Amino acid sequence: MKYAIVLPDGAADVPLDALGGRTPLEVARIPHMDRVARSGRLGRMVTIPDGFTAATDVGTLTVLGYDPHVYYSGRAPIEAAARGLAVREDQLIFRCNFVTVLDGRMKDNTAGHIAQAEAEALIAALQAALADAGCTFHAGVTYRNLMLLDQAAGLAVRCAPPHDIIGQPVAAHLPAGPGSTRVTDIMDRARPLIAAHAVNRERRDGGRDPVTDIWLWGQGRPARLETFASRFGPRAAVITGVDVLRGMARLMGMAILEVPGATGYIDTNYAGKGAAAVRALDEFDLIVVHVEAADEAAHMGSAEEKVKALERMDEAIVGPLLERLACEPAWRVMVAVDHPTLTTTRGHSAIPPLFACAGTGIAAVERAPYTEVAAARGGHWIRPGHRLMEVFLHD
Ligand SMILES: [Zn+2]
Repeated sequence: MKYAIVLPDGAADVPLDALGGRTPLEVARIPHMDRVARSGRLGRMVTIPDGFTAATDVGTLTVLGYDPHVYYSGRAPIEAAARGLAVREDQLIFRCNFVTVLDGRMKDNTAGHIAQAEAEALIAALQAALADAGCTFHAGVTYRNLMLLDQAAGLAVRCAPPHDIIGQPVAAHLPAGPGSTRVTDIMDRARPLIAAHAVNRERRDGGRDPVTDIWLWGQGRPARLETFASRFGPRAAVITGVDVLRGMARLMGMAILEVPGATGYIDTNYAGKGAAAVRALDEFDLIVVHVEAADEAAHMGSAEEKVKALERMDEAIVGPLLERLACEPAWRVMVAVDHPTLTTTRGHSAIPPLFACAGTGIAAVERAPYTEVAAARGGHWIRPGHRLMEVFLHD
C-alpha cells in the first residue's frame, strides 16, 4: 500500500465578510481535495487537546498519530531536533527570541525581523560573555534562536510566548516558578551587552528601533519520539519548508526531502513540492507534504491570498499525487488540517479542524466537498485526534 498525506497548514477558517460569508475552503476551486472528500471519509478531529496552545507543533503531532500529552515537550526541543543539536538529558532547551521592549512593554517579538547577520553577531557576543552561566546559544533563523541551559532538569519555570504579550508590560510575564531566577539572570545580563553592541549603534543611525532583550520561552527537555515506522509500519518521508515539521520528521525517523524554493510562505514552490512528492512514492511507502502558505495568508489577514494558496496546492500537489497513486494496486490519500487559522483574528484557533481520506478499502460516505460545514455534518468525529492516523492507515 502507498500512502500520501497532504497537510494544508491552517487551511480551516470561519465565514468571512470579504468572501460573502463563506470560508476560503468554500470559495476556492479545489477539485482534487473535493474528490478526496466525496469519494471517502470526511470529518473532524480534536488536534489541540485541552490545555495545549493551538500551534502547528501540537496540531501536526496529533495528526501524525502522536498524543501531545505523551510526546509534546515544547517548541524549542522540536527546533533543536530540526537543527540536529546534540542535547544532554540534564539540559533544558529554550527558544531565545531577540525582541524590542520599549517603556517596559513588548513592542516587537521579532526585533523588527532582525537581520540574520545581526542575530548571529549578537548570539556570538552572548556566548562569549555568558559562558560562565551554564548556557550555550545557538543561532537559528533571524529572531528564532535557541539556548541550552545546563543542569536544568529540575527547573519548573513558566515562560510566556512573546507573540502573546505584544503591547503588554513585560514585568507581569517574566519567567516564574522554581529555578526561574537562573533564567531571568541570563536575560538581565544580556540586556546591557545588547544595548552596547555595534548592531544597535547601526540601528540607531538608521532610525530603527533597537534590539533590547533576549526573551527565553518554549522550553522543554530533549524530545524523544518513537519512530513512525516502528509505531505504524510505513517508511515515510516529509516535504516541508518549515523547521517545526523538519524537527518532528527527524524525531519520528522520517526522511526529509528538501525542495528548492520551498519557503514556508505564500510564494512557495508548489509545483516543485508536488513533483518531489510524486517521485518520493517510488522510494517510500508514505509521503507527507506540508504547505504553510494558507496559514501565512490568514496571518496576513488576506482572504484572497488564502484562497489562492489553497487553489495552488490543490492543482500542483493534490492533483499530481492522485494521478500518481492511481497507478498503484493499493493506495490511500488524506488531506488533514492541523488547526484553523482565522483570517478575522489573524491567529490560530483550537476549533476542531477537518480531514478527508480516500482510497483502497475506504467507502464513500458523505459524498460532500472539502469544507468545514460538510465535515462538521459528516459522521466522522475523531477524538482524541491522534487516533486519526490509525484510522487512515488501517481501518
Ligand atoms: Zn499550523
